[in-house]
Amino acid sequence: MINRTEKFLKIGNAIKDGTDFIILAHTNPDGDAVASVLAMGLILHQLDKKFTMVLPDPVPREYLFLPGVSDIEITRELPENIETLIILDCGDVKRIKFFSDAIEKAKTVINIDHHYSNNGYGDLSFIDQESSSVTEILFELFEYHNYPLTREIAICLYTGILTDTGSFKQENSTAKCHFIVSKLLKFQIKPNEIYSIVYEQFTFNQFKLLELGLSTLEMFEDNSIAVIHFDNEMFLKTETQYTDVSEFINFIRLIKDLKVAVICKQMKSGDFRVSMRSKSKIDVSKIAFSFGGGGHPQAAACTIPGKIDEVKQKILLKIKEFIN
Ligand code: AMP
Ligand code: MN
Ligand code: MN
Repeated sequence: MINRTEKFLKIGNAIKDGTDFIILAHTNPDGDAVASVLAMGLILHQLDKKFTMVLPDPVPREYLFLPGVSDIEITRELPENIETLIILDCGDVKRIKFFSDAIEKAKTVINIDHHYSNNGYGDLSFIDQESSSVTEILFELFEYHNYPLTREIAICLYTGILTDTGSFKQENSTAKCHFIVSKLLKFQIKPNEIYSIVYEQFTFNQFKLLELGLSTLEMFEDNSIAVIHFDNEMFLKTETQYTDVSEFINFIRLIKDLKVAVICKQMKSGDFRVSMRSKSKIDVSKIAFSFGGGGHPQAAACTIPGKIDEVKQKILLKIKEFIN
């Protein structure tokens, strides 16, 4: 059992004593990664601290509306002498391996996360797999210390919770998470507007890409597993890119009686990134973990090299082990 109070106190002390912070999150940042970096940055700003927000890859288009986003530095290099490094939403240091030197040299590393695979690296860590998102944890941390929340911070925290719960569709949308959302809504944020910005911005080209992807749909194990794929040829043909696919898994998730939705996305390197969503008791993070990836019971991902047919065969074999 984690001792929340003690850990919050220690992290609070490190924030109080720190004078110069770097805040970062995982590669290919999702809503929770971007929003938690921003929320932490906005709080440090409120506390009059010097800080830099860093992400190793660009912010996806749908999160560019978030307050403070233009202040995030996109880089894979960190300064030599870091005083306090706050790493958010990063279940595995492998996901930020190019920063490993800097992490080792930093005076204090604070690791705040909700992936159960997180081994508690760093000097101070707060890992809570029961939390829907890092933004949910940050809300509790900020509230515990009476840090001054603003509407901008509430927008970030809400967006992180929204996206990491798959817009409240996944099992991690708990009573606690909804209770926190109800407190965030007091800051006059508009859930309908945020939903629309995050989820309703598909371009025509993205729909053409979706059409190509859906034409690859295959069902297995009595229609309980759905698989689609997207390759570089499709991106080229529709003038789209890998990042345009991130929400498409939700379309196949709609299928009745589905247990696992699988989407294979080809990266520039040629390898496939395989994302999975579970609509059942099957813990897809265990499947992803067996391929060197990770995630949560209901949403996980891993990278599998090879031709698409081999990739599909490998992932299917593994899922079938968990279904039967
Ligand atoms: P995605 O399908 O890319 O949206 O990823 C699904 C979930 O798995 C997200 O919460 C990711 O943060 C998480 N995830 C993906 N890769 C890893 C990894 N290597 N280790 C831990 N979590 C991961
Ligand atoms: Mn994430
Ligand atoms: Mn997260």
